[in-house]
Amino acid sequence: MAVTSHKSLLKSDELYQYILETSVYPREHECIKELRHITASHPWAVMASSPDEVQFLGMLVKLMHAKNTMEIGVYTGYSLLATALALPDDGKILALDNNRETYELGLPVIQKAGVAHKIDFREGLALPILDQLVAEGKYKGTFDFVFVDADKANYLNYHERVIELVRVGGVVAYDNTLWTGSVAAPPGAALSEFDGMYKDTMLVVNRALAADSRVEICQLSIADGLTLCRRIST
Ligand code: SAH
Ligand code: CA
Repeated sequence: MAVTSHKSLLKSDELYQYILETSVYPREHECIKELRHITASHPWAVMASSPDEVQFLGMLVKLMHAKNTMEIGVYTGYSLLATALALPDDGKILALDNNRETYELGLPVIQKAGVAHKIDFREGLALPILDQLVAEGKYKGTFDFVFVDADKANYLNYHERVIELVRVGGVVAYDNTLWTGSVAAPPGAALSEFDGMYKDTMLVVNRALAADSRVEICQLSIADGLTLCRRIST
C-alpha cells in the first residue's frame, strides 16, 4: 500500500499545497504561524496537527459558540493556540498533557497571542484527571467541545469519561482516526512501522464510535482523519 502523508489524505501533495497556500496561509494568525515553525523544528513534529486542521478546529469552536472546552494531548500547543484564539475572551480550555516541557515550547507564543488566560494546563496522565472530573460530579455535561489527541490506545477509555463531561449537543473530536489511511489496508498488508502503529487501534475505535448510540458521528478526511462525535443523549 502506498504510504500516505500523516498530514493529508488528498490525492497529491500538490493539491494539499494548493489548499494551504490558497486558503490557510494567507490569513493565518502570525502567532499560529510562529508556533507552526517552532513545532516543525522539534523532533516530534509529526505529532502536531496540520495547518488546515487547526484552521478547521478554530472555525468549529466559533460555529458552536463554544466557551468551555478541553484538549487531551497538547504537545507544543499548536492546536491549543488555534482553538484558544477562536474562543471568546472569557472562554476556557482545560489542557491535559503529561509533558509540560513540550507545552513550554509554545507557551511564550500563546502568551504573546494574548490567550494564556483562557488555558488551564494540567500536567499529568489524562485518564486519572478525567476520572477525578467525573467523580466530582459538577463537571458532568459542562463541556461544549473536547479535542482528543493523546495516546491512541486510550481513546476508548477517554471516550467513556468525556462522553459524561460533554453536554448534550456538544462535540468530542478524535484525531488521527484514519491513521495515515492505513485503516483501509487489507489485513496482513506490508505497512511501514509508522503506518502499522495504530492501524488496529483505530479500526477498533472507529467501530466502537460508529456503534455508540450516545453520539452521532461524522468522519472527516481532513489531516489523517478527524471523527466528530455529537452527544445526543444522557
Ligand atoms: N494536539 C497537539 C498534538 C498532541 S501530540 C497538536 O495538534 O498540535 C500527543 C500528546 O499527547 C503528546 O504531547 C503527549 O505528551 C501526550 N500524551 C500521550 N499520552 C498521554 C497521557 N496518557 N496523558 C496525557 N497526555 C498524554
Ligand atoms: Ca493528532
